[in-house]
Amino acid sequence: MTLRFKTILGIALIEIVVLITLVFSAMQFLADSNEKQLLQRAQSSAIMFAHAAKDALNSTDLVTLNDLVNTLMAIEDVAYVRVSHDGQDVAVAGDESLLSRAFITDTSLASVDDGVFDLRTEIVSDEQVFGYVDIGFATSPIKQMLAEAKQAIVGLAAVEVFLVALASFTLGTYLTRHLTRLTTAVNNLGTHGPGYQLEQHPTDELGQVSKAFNEMSAKLAKDHQHLTQARQGAEQANDSKSRFLASMSHEIRTPMNGVLGILNILEETNLTAEQRKMVSTATESGHFLLSVINDILDFTRMESNTLILEDKPFDLRHCVESVVDSFSPTAASQDLVFHCYFQGDIPTKVRGDHNRIKQILLNLLGNAFKFTQQGSVTVKIASEALSGEKVKLQFDIQDTGIGIEKNALDYLFDEFTMVDQTYSRSKEGSGLGLAICRRLCHLMDGEVSVVSVPEVGSTFTFTIQLKVCDDQHDTIIESDANHELLCPNARILVAEDNRANQLVIQEMFKRVGLQIDMAQNGLEAVEMIQNYQYDLVFMDISMPKMDGMKATEMIRALNDPSSANLPIIALTAHSLAGDKEKFIASGMNDYLSKPLRLSQLIEKINLFLNETSNTTFEPSSPNNRQSIAYRLSVDKQDVANEKGINVDLVDETILQQMIEDTSADIMPMLIEHYLEESQQRLAKIAVAMTNEDKNVLEFEAHTLGSSSLALGNRALSLLSRKIEHLCLEGREKEAYQLKTELELTAIRSLQALEKRKQQGFSESPEL
Ligand code: ADP
Repeated sequence: MTLRFKTILGIALIEIVVLITLVFSAMQFLADSNEKQLLQRAQSSAIMFAHAAKDALNSTDLVTLNDLVNTLMAIEDVAYVRVSHDGQDVAVAGDESLLSRAFITDTSLASVDDGVFDLRTEIVSDEQVFGYVDIGFATSPIKQMLAEAKQAIVGLAAVEVFLVALASFTLGTYLTRHLTRLTTAVNNLGTHGPGYQLEQHPTDELGQVSKAFNEMSAKLAKDHQHLTQARQGAEQANDSKSRFLASMSHEIRTPMNGVLGILNILEETNLTAEQRKMVSTATESGHFLLSVINDILDFTRMESNTLILEDKPFDLRHCVESVVDSFSPTAASQDLVFHCYFQGDIPTKVRGDHNRIKQILLNLLGNAFKFTQQGSVTVKIASEALSGEKVKLQFDIQDTGIGIEKNALDYLFDEFTMVDQTYSRSKEGSGLGLAICRRLCHLMDGEVSVVSVPEVGSTFTFTIQLKVCDDQHDTIIESDANHELLCPNARILVAEDNRANQLVIQEMFKRVGLQIDMAQNGLEAVEMIQNYQYDLVFMDISMPKMDGMKATEMIRALNDPSSANLPIIALTAHSLAGDKEKFIASGMNDYLSKPLRLSQLIEKINLFLNETSNTTFEPSSPNNRQSIAYRLSVDKQDVANEKGINVDLVDETILQQMIEDTSADIMPMLIEHYLEESQQRLAKIAVAMTNEDKNVLEFEAHTLGSSSLALGNRALSLLSRKIEHLCLEGREKEAYQLKTELELTAIRSLQALEKRKQQGFSESPEL
């Protein structure tokens, strides 16, 4: 029901009720006053007549009586007059039918049922009644007058109801029109944001409402603008923070690498006891500084959802024990009882990110030892089998330390939290450890909690979910590096601009008896590769004149098979998500994070120089997260290829695998990156095909094949691989023929993936 209708109905109802009451009371009043008037008139006429007729009746003067009767008859509304004496009519006048009926006195108008008000009056003389006068008054004129009055009043009332309805309709229309305008304006505000203005303002209160609305909208628009600016500012600040952290990590980690490396070398030289102590303190501080930087970086990456967990097979017991063992000296030096129990049937081979599990354990155990002066630290590990080849692991880290106050437990896992500032200040820490643990547990579908009693101790419990390996092909990757250099005559080039790092790397290689060449920047590296023969290159990323990626691209484009196949390992202090993909895309084979360890350098040299023929351009590092998915996919792809099976444009299984390896949140970003990169790569391939540039074609097709397979573009990957193999086999002419087919497959594949991206991704544990 509209407001207008309600207004009209309400007003009309009130009006009708009031008018009906008025009409009835007016009619009643009119009827009463007319009755009173009639009665008075009848009675006074009868009394006067009785008085006048008394003598004439006494003397039986019929002529006078008749005169009197006729005189009375002349009075308006008198219907008849009768004078009787001793039951005999003496004089009569008027309607005979009325005179002939039996006489019944009327007391009020209500008792009149024949249209005549009958009144009998005694004719008294000397206090003796010797006759009666009966008079009949016609009531029809009164009734007619009342009927006319009723008609007039009802008519007037109807006109009034109509006028009121009209007025309320007009008012209602006016009100609703303005209310509708306001509603539209408010809706506009809701959909298009603040700023909308109403144009016309009536001068009444409604106009004031419109004006108030306009003022509010304008103010909101202003506030909205301020907020938008503030948000943009905050976003920019956040971006700057990330950039700052990335560059800070680079700026601190790189020289730190130098410092720690030199300290490492220094430790091996002849030192006095005091010097040794100083070196050890410096090393310890350096490591602590690096751990704080790593914590901050980890946290920033988790905040921006760019931290990607690895999904590799590993030995769970070995992983836990390696952390636990590293605390044995601490336990001994602090005189604490330290035990670790594996409860029940714990799976040995699992898949997941062992480094992150170690990180959680290191953190919680580190805290346990940090905050426990006497008693014990105990680690318990239990497992519970879940559906879908998964296992839920529960770790309890129990200590008998200082414990935590109840009120601190609520915010303990918040970032930068240190319960006892004074105590914590004496203990090193960033207050980020537990926040990182919580986020890592969440990433592994688990939780972390604590039960603690001050002065008694704390038990930190965390759960994670891992996949159990039963796949024969899932070989456990041992992180223990082989320190023995398998190719002592390898010709190694290192491109590094930082003097301290150059020194460290040179000294490290000197230790294993390997002479290396050093390039000061990317440009120099390219020139040296053109002039000398190298087996492997370690390439710093950030360098003046030309960065490592550009240099690698140039090396790859040198159009000479030895540099095209030259293993190039990135040395990077960059740690942001997507960096690794960028290195691989630029043509690098692998990467190492700074600070560098000699063992890692040797591991890479051994890996590449023993398998060069197999590892050309492959992301072959065991640290490369995509490598396992990639290898599995290649197997499947080859089978499909051999059997001539129709291959999907977008392989959902690969995407699901990718989600498991990374996270659903990062998928759109990865796909976007891939789509963009593939467009560029396809353009390069097109040019290479037109110019019949076999090397570029082979390289680009290889990279496209790898990246498109990683993102599920199976058909495109298959075709790229085919082109790459044709080039490798010297059948490049056949490869050039595939130009149109590649273009068509690429368009369809990239479009299908773009469409799939728009449908969104979610984590689904079951594949
Ligand atoms: P930090 O890097 O400073 O150790 P954490 O996030 O790991 O930061 O820990 C935050 C705070 O929680 C610590 O400063 C300490 O006050 C408290 N805490 C953590 N573990 C324990 C423990 N086992 N016993 C007592 N207090 C603890």
